[in-house]
Amino acid sequence: MNVLVCGGAGYIGSNMTAMLAENGHKAYVYDNLSKGHIEAVVPEAEFIYGDLADYDKLVRVIRDKKIDAVMHFAAFIEVGESVKDPLGYYNNNFCNTHNLLRAMDFMGVNKFVFSSTAATYGMPDEVPIVETLPKEPINPYGESKWAVERMCHFQSQTGRLNYAALRYFNACGAGRNSQLGEDHKPESHLIPLIIQAALGQREDIKIFGTDYNTKDGTCVRDYIHIEDLCSAHLLALEKLSTESEIVFNLGNGNGYTVREVIETVKKVSGKDFKVTETDRRAGDPAVLTADSAKAQTQLGWKPKWTNLEDIVETAWKFHSARPNGYSG
Ligand code: UDP
Repeated sequence: MNVLVCGGAGYIGSNMTAMLAENGHKAYVYDNLSKGHIEAVVPEAEFIYGDLADYDKLVRVIRDKKIDAVMHFAAFIEVGESVKDPLGYYNNNFCNTHNLLRAMDFMGVNKFVFSSTAATYGMPDEVPIVETLPKEPINPYGESKWAVERMCHFQSQTGRLNYAALRYFNACGAGRNSQLGEDHKPESHLIPLIIQAALGQREDIKIFGTDYNTKDGTCVRDYIHIEDLCSAHLLALEKLSTESEIVFNLGNGNGYTVREVIETVKKVSGKDFKVTETDRRAGDPAVLTADSAKAQTQLGWKPKWTNLEDIVETAWKFHSARPNGYSG
């Protein structure tokens, strides 16, 4: 297929682009480089500089490149920032996706794979989370993603859209032999932050809360390797030839505490660094783990990276080879 990868210069999009190319698809990366990195675009893909706000350009690209399917990773992802700038988040995450869907609809392209998030569940009453639990986001980021899911749902009912919404848990690690990793500025995700401490780029790693009702008092999250995340997208894309609406959680099902992640980075890197215990971060549920049985049964997907040490090793290789990120 000719696949348009919106946000293909970002962390997840670049790994997806690489996997599409490795599996016989032609990938066209559409990115405004506001967050992504041109060096992360694999050479097999064609790069198109463009903004999702530019409806006319989207139509032209979909027509000229004979696009068969669209995968959409171009979104803002910072919960805290979304609380300070809800309009900005709705504009980029919702309005621009609306533009993209309009352009697809105009050109008669009906296959759409959408990056959604576990943040759509808010503070769930049960874990592991199954897809049917209530969607009650507690911040504009989660709400903007959920609004897109609803838009896709109603559009799919017209018969003109087949879509997959994939709700990610904690994507991490680096793909393509540890060449494509996380490089966010500013960084807010746990594993790259710990690695920064291991590299001596920050004076410590702060643990946000040590009084949760978990085995060591710190939060439990479900860390899924980027390649497992992307392989599920590939399977979902294939399903869209026959299915109009598919929604899956993507996690690896194993929860790890913040302390366990810190110890794993220490072990993998062989470095010691300062760990500071601080107050809870607002809006953090104690435990967020995915029940991904639905994706496993219906897509035939199986996460390969189940061991946290192996996952962290790929991230460590990426960051230690590029301590200043891509542009460094
Ligand atoms: N966390 C932490 N210190 C940090 C960053 C994150 O203790 O400097 C914790 C955070 O409270 C959460 C977990 O690590 O329990 C994962 O956080 P992250 O921001 O990576 O992902 P989230 O689960 O919020 O999507």
